Amino acid sequence: MDEPLLFELSSPGRTGFSLPACDVPKTPLPEGRVRDDLSLPEVSERDLIKHFTRLSQLNFSVDTGFYPLGSCTMKYNPKVNEEMARLPGFAHIHPYQDEGLVQGALRLMYELQEYLAEIAGLPAVSLQPAAGAHGELTGMLMVRAYHQNRHDRERRVVLVPDSAHGTNPATAAMCGYRVMTIPSDGRGNIDADILRDRADESVAALMLTNPNTLGLFEERILEVAEIIHGLGALIYCDGANMNALLGIAKPGELGMDILHYNLHKTFATPHGGGGPGAGATAVREDLAPFLPLPLVARRETSEGTRYYLDYDRPLSIGKVGSFYGNFGVMVKAYAYIRSLGGDGLREVSEDAVLNANYLLSGLKGYYYLPYDRPCLHECVFSGRWQKEIGVRTLDIAKRLIDFGFHPPTIYFPLIVEEALMIEPTETESLETLEGFLAAMKEIAREAREEPDTLRSAPHKMPLSRLDEVTAARRPNLRWKGGFDKGGSFLLKFS
Ligand SMILES: *Cc1c(COP(=O)(O)O)cnc(C)c1O
Repeated sequence: MDEPLLFELSSPGRTGFSLPACDVPKTPLPEGRVRDDLSLPEVSERDLIKHFTRLSQLNFSVDTGFYPLGSCTMKYNPKVNEEMARLPGFAHIHPYQDEGLVQGALRLMYELQEYLAEIAGLPAVSLQPAAGAHGELTGMLMVRAYHQNRHDRERRVVLVPDSAHGTNPATAAMCGYRVMTIPSDGRGNIDADILRDRADESVAALMLTNPNTLGLFEERILEVAEIIHGLGALIYCDGANMNALLGIAKPGELGMDILHYNLHKTFATPHGGGGPGAGATAVREDLAPFLPLPLVARRETSEGTRYYLDYDRPLSIGKVGSFYGNFGVMVKAYAYIRSLGGDGLREVSEDAVLNANYLLSGLKGYYYLPYDRPCLHECVFSGRWQKEIGVRTLDIAKRLIDFGFHPPTIYFPLIVEEALMIEPTETESLETLEGFLAAMKEIAREAREEPDTLRSAPHKMPLSRLDEVTAARRPNLRWKGGFDKGGSFLLKFS
């Protein structure tokens, strides 16, 4: 950063605005409301815009580069979806408006419920949860309601495979269940034999991700479903990885009873930085009465079809959020689904799987592949070979930044030592994938021949290695910069 920052540009009396002369009597602000001790920069509008625009360009984004962050599905989000969500008829409505005035919005929600039901192979859907983890909570509250409604009160255990996303056991625990971990077998599947041994009638549900977080299809899923259902328990499917299955396999037909989507992953809503998202949750027929209040429903009247919010659902777990969910995200998901159609959605998954397998075969031999079988939409390598020669996966990830790529997910899933979880998504070109492969191969060479280059990476960023935990937990956003003797800008964190 060699350009001066806002504080260095400050010049007394310079402003970014000009107001007409005051034509009303001046009234002083109440005592204590004006602080004279703040040394704010005094700059022109032009300098201000330059400053913030430049700062914004320091961010990495899906619109500016390859972002293969495994499990997160950081795919390109077509801009037409944004435009649809910005249409005044959608953007300017209010949830307290009379149903008669928002028939279009209700119809969109109703149809989105139907599409998501079709894709999941599960007939009933709530759009209310605001994120994936929130969908999990909704799902597990329904598991509890289902068993309670059957006066089946002894079920205290939720089974979770050791490859699961951390939100799964956390959700089960939040719903009052005891979590029992089931290990994975040598092929990366949940170990169905151990499951059969350990599961009994104290089990309320199994939480399963398919494809799992190793990017692998659960090969024994039908057998697993049989075991769980045989005990009277339910299967909750974490559907964060639905980008691998669209139009190819329906979780409902694989024996899944409840599934959450991450509309912000699979259905192309920009995400990261905390939202907004949507964790629409689908269930099998006999669980529909437990879905959150209200659902969007439809009835035929003498004046034609009418859409309404159905609150008459006595077994519902109640509301899980304010109003009806993040409507803007629903519009984007709807537009995305409508613009692709059924065949287009299937192509999304086919291409996502193809791209991931292309990277898998390209990197084999350069990085250790713990589960050597074709993957679905993401592949998981291990930096084990590099670690043996003193280079950690964190160093590999940091070095990728110098090549212009966002690093993949690292150190997750937990069952893979020094994990590198790569999800290219369907939206990247062959040239981008080739560029990424070339960078990863070059990094493998550097690890052997010049490991210090990796250990001190990144070299091309204004800041190199941050204390990321402290930055997230105790962020200090106050400017405390200055210049070093060579005139370079320094940023200090405390
Ligand atoms: C992203 C993700 C979640 C959580 O979803 P959020 O929308 O971030 O709450 C859960 N499980 C898996 C496998 C995920 O990738």
